[in-house]
Parts: sequence; C-alpha cells; structure tokens
Amino acid sequence: MKILVINCGSSSLKFQLIDSVTEDWLAKGNCERIGIDNSFVSYTKKGSDKVNIDADMPDHNKAIEKVVEILTTGDTAVLSSLSEIDVVGHRVVHGGEYFNEAVLIDDDVIAKITELNELAPLHNPANLIGIKALQKVLKDTPMVAVFDTAFHQTMPEEAYLYGIPYDMYVKHHIRKYGFHGTSHSFVSRTACEFLNKDYDKTKVIVCHLGNGASVSAVKNGKCIDTSMGFTPLEGLIMGTRSGDIDPAVIEFMAQKENTDVKGVINILNKKSGVFGLSEGFSSDFRDLEDGYNANKPGSTRAVKAFCYKVLKYIGAYAAAMNGVDVICFTAGIGENTSIVRKLICDNLGYLGVTLDEEANSKRGFNNVISTPDSKVTVAVIPTNEELEITRLTVNCLEKNGKLCK
Ligand code: ADP
Repeated sequence: MKILVINCGSSSLKFQLIDSVTEDWLAKGNCERIGIDNSFVSYTKKGSDKVNIDADMPDHNKAIEKVVEILTTGDTAVLSSLSEIDVVGHRVVHGGEYFNEAVLIDDDVIAKITELNELAPLHNPANLIGIKALQKVLKDTPMVAVFDTAFHQTMPEEAYLYGIPYDMYVKHHIRKYGFHGTSHSFVSRTACEFLNKDYDKTKVIVCHLGNGASVSAVKNGKCIDTSMGFTPLEGLIMGTRSGDIDPAVIEFMAQKENTDVKGVINILNKKSGVFGLSEGFSSDFRDLEDGYNANKPGSTRAVKAFCYKVLKYIGAYAAAMNGVDVICFTAGIGENTSIVRKLICDNLGYLGVTLDEEANSKRGFNNVISTPDSKVTVAVIPTNEELEITRLTVNCLEKNGKLCK
C-alpha cells in the first residue's frame, strides 16, 4: 500500500509517501512559506538529490495542488496517477479526550477536531485545512487522523489532573494532555523490540529532546505520565519555551514588563528556553554545544539547565513507575548531542546507570549507550514519526475492514 503522510502547519505542509510493506519512503518534501512571499517546496525523490522548487502557494489548497503535480508529473514523479495513493494519514495535534487512537476521518471526526481548536489554536485549525484540501483532490481515498495526544490518553487521573478546582476540569477540560505521542509510542516500542524485551512488561522512560522536548513514562506498553501538559509549554526547558514555571510569575512579569497575559505567554513560548537562558545566543544545540565546549557562560548556563530538568523528570518517572528498565534518548538533540546524554547519565548513578562513553560518541542508529553491567539500559533510538503514523494508519484501516492490499 502507498500511504501519503501529511503534517500540516500554519505556513508549512510536510508530506511523505511511504510504502507500507517495505516501510520505506518513496518521496518526501515540505511546502514552506505558504501564504507568505517566496514560497517553495523542498523535495526529495528516493535515489535523487533534494531540490527546491519555487511555487506560488498563497494557500494550502494551492500547496496541495503543487504536491500532486510534483508527485505525478515530470522528473519528480513517483506516481503515475493519484489513484495509486491508497490512504492518507494526517498528523493532528490535539485529540482531546475524544480520541485515544487513530480514527478514520468522517464528518463527525472533523466536527470534533474543530471543537478542539480552542485547546490547540495554533495547530488544529492548520491540520483541518490540510485534511480539507486533500479531500478536495482525493475524494474517495480513505483518510486517517493520527493524534499527538492519543498515546497519552492512558495516563491515570492522578497524573493528568492539575491541583485546581475539579470543576475546571469538568467544565473546561483543563488537564494534562501531553504531546509528541507518536514519537513516544514509536521509540518506546522500538526500544523494546531492539533490546528483545517484552513491551508489556517493561518500564521505559523516553526523552524526546528536540526543539520541542518532552519526557514520558511508559509502563508495560502504556503511557502513565508525560511532561508536556495542557499545552506544549509545560515540562522541560526547550528551544524557546520555558517549560515548568510558577504561574504567579505571569502576573509579576506582565507588571514589570508592562505587558499583558498574552504578551507574557508569548515570551514564555518564543523568547525563553535555552534561547532565553543563553541571552538570545541560540536555540540550536549545535551552537550551544560549541559554546559549552568553548566555556561560553550563556551556552554553559543553558545546556546545564536543560540537562538538569531532563534529569529531574527521569527521577520523577522512575519514582512514578516504581523503577525503570530502559531510558531512551531521541529527536534532534537526544539523537545527536552526546554531551547532553553524558551530563544526564553521569547523574543517574543512583539508579545503577553506567554510561559507555565510546558508544555514546556514535550517532544515527539504534544503539545501547550504557555498559553491559548497567542496571538500567540506556539507548539512543532515532524517532520516526512518519513511520509511526503509517503504522497507525494501516492498523486503523485494518480495524475498520478497509485494508485493500
Ligand atoms: P523539532 O522537530 O522539535 O523542530 P528536532 O527534533 O528537529 O526538533 O531537533 C532540533 C534540535 O536538534 C536543534 O536544537 C538542533 O540543534 C538539534 N540537532 C539536530 N541535528 C543535530 C546535530 N547533528 N548535532 C547536534 N544537534 C543537532
């Protein structure tokens, strides 16, 4: 089966065409600057170099038209016609409490995703635009929604409730939802397969450390806690997001900086994290790693604070699961920045973690980075959210009796 995986943002649309049998991608790309000047598509056909294709994309419908053209015509083509696409898997950020698994998209699902717009105003509306634009060109092709929040729906009440009046949860659905679910699910399961452990009997902590970053506790194949919350602002210190903060800071900062709640939330989302801590030096760990190695105070401060927060969450989740068997690092920083893994693992001696420094210097593949006598296995597991979306999409078709080939 050929699956088109779509990840639609407000000004971008990432796509990947994947063969579900080989699980290999055939083509992938990103429509960038949709609705802005100088929009273009970066595109790679399997076996060819990446190309940037200029394309006027004033809206997402035009972007989809361009994607269709690229996939089906000229040198870039990988399909003879659109009918070769068997199913579309859409990444949808917020599934609220409605969705604990991937679902076939119908009018009711669209209505529920729309209702959830208020919980994810930056993401769900863009995801819906992508769904509707694809529906226009692929009228009879089944489409599946795969939610970032779904994997975390197994969290118990004591983990997802905030300590606020209970009717705030009942009336307004204010609770922890968690994000990056497809990554946490993919990485925890892949780690157990790779390590020959029974997923249903293993306690895994996944550290998804990218620009957005979160940690999750996966006990016996089910997520029982995760660091992101009602929004992706909670939890770890991230590229530009503050992570956990005393809510009283918001009013205080608003007064001192002569702004309002919205202004403060903007600072916490866009000007904080390692970017803010390094005094605006960089949100990119490649720069921060260089700065740390050169003893630059801003980079050192940011890297240390980032690692300290991850370390605290690992401790918390080892406690929440009454132990931990496997700790995984994934995403841009988790997969590539060995100094971050070292700074964290060197402080996990109390759990019986011993780092294999040689193994920790490698990157790019599933890899155990703890020593053979380490009580907890530490592994780097590259994430692959598109592949997880593919697998969940196929599962969903199967469950609905719609699997064609
Ligand atoms: P997101 O998907 O949330 O945008 P990514 O998972 O792509 O984030 O991670 C981005 C982060 O990973 C950046 O801080 C970047 O510096 C870091 N990163 C990516 N590649 C490397 C690399 N080769 N070496 C060090 N850090 C890297």
